[in-house]
Amino acid sequence: MSQRRIRLGLIGGGFNSFIGVVHRVAAYMFEDYEIVGGAFDANYDECKRFAEHLELDVNRAYPDIDALIAAEKALPADQRIEAVSVLTPNFLHYPMAKKLIEAGFHVICEKPITITAAEAIELEQLVEKHKVVFALTHTYTGYPMARQMKQMIADGAIGKIQKVDAQYYQGWINPIIHDKAQRSTVWRLDPKKSGQSSCFGDIGVHAFNMIEYTTGIEVESVLADLDTMYDDNPLDVDGTALIRLKNGVKGLVRASQIATGEENNIQIAVYGDKGGLKWVQEDPTYLTYFQEGKPVQILKPGHPYNSEFAAESTKIAPGHPEGLFDAMGNIYKGAGLAIRKKPFKNGAFPTVRDGVRGMKFIEGVLESHKKGQVWVNIL
Ligand code: NAD
Repeated sequence: MSQRRIRLGLIGGGFNSFIGVVHRVAAYMFEDYEIVGGAFDANYDECKRFAEHLELDVNRAYPDIDALIAAEKALPADQRIEAVSVLTPNFLHYPMAKKLIEAGFHVICEKPITITAAEAIELEQLVEKHKVVFALTHTYTGYPMARQMKQMIADGAIGKIQKVDAQYYQGWINPIIHDKAQRSTVWRLDPKKSGQSSCFGDIGVHAFNMIEYTTGIEVESVLADLDTMYDDNPLDVDGTALIRLKNGVKGLVRASQIATGEENNIQIAVYGDKGGLKWVQEDPTYLTYFQEGKPVQILKPGHPYNSEFAAESTKIAPGHPEGLFDAMGNIYKGAGLAIRKKPFKNGAFPTVRDGVRGMKFIEGVLESHKKGQVWVNIL
């Protein structure tokens, strides 16, 4: 067993998992992690079968998180799992992460971090107390040109920020929402598993995160109008939130799961008094740079005009597109540096603080809508 690689465990991520393969590829992208065990599936037989599939020691396929923690803590320090990725449906993030942090494991966790803001704040306090690394996988922050956008805004390339606009449009719930029988098969529409929100909890929070990530400025307040489509559907599937940043700048977060035909159309645009920057995930190698009075420029990864942050997030030559796997790889790389106590750049991976911010945003959006579209402070 390598001593250099971080010994990684997974909760969820088994055969029937959507996001699991993205995490597995990311973990191996820079030769900095090695998956050694996990509770890969709610079903123990499936969990063991998955461990065999990965050619792991099946003794390290665990029936649940408690068994994982107990068995791994009993191993010598140079063998035990060091970090655990939590890849389950939303309602399990908080209880799993809490147990892991308290047991001294570093945590890589899927978003939304928890179901409530109070839980996220508790995790933030636990991370501080137990001195572990907590990475939240807001995957889009790992793209080279999203990082370039963050750096250029910090360097003043667009001047003083005066408008922000983020959206995340999907359409996959359209056929499901109109068919009551199908609705009950989707955990994202079940409040017990998804939490208080479907659309804003699942994807609106990514768009929100891109605003705070690229501008480095917190959103102060929100005013939201949500749509559940049917009275007997308890969770939002569409909505718009007007936002005000701490510095008074206005903008919006638009999110939908019923934007028929859309796939994963997340985009972020930030405009300043000298120019603007716009990044669209489905064309991730293009960063559009507007400058007052000049022709529009398209910046691409792999060129010397990019920042060091974007350059070190790029692995291959210009013209070879990098995508979601690569972005997740960059986040794993950043978290790995922190776990190994090596230097890393601001923004190398989203943290538990981003999780708290995301949950405050989701709760603020829900409160605003419930109270009849009023402004809600989310600081
Ligand atoms: P999924 O339904 O495809 O997979 C969930 C997995 O969790 C399954 O393997 C299931 O067996 C496992 N699981 C459920 N209960 C478990 C338990 N008690 N113990 C162990 N394993 C258990 O879900 P998904 O679409 O992969 O989403 C999982 C999480 O990832 C969600 O929180 C979602 O918001 C997030 N996600 C993030 C991104 C991103 O871009 N960062 C993309 C997709 C999903």
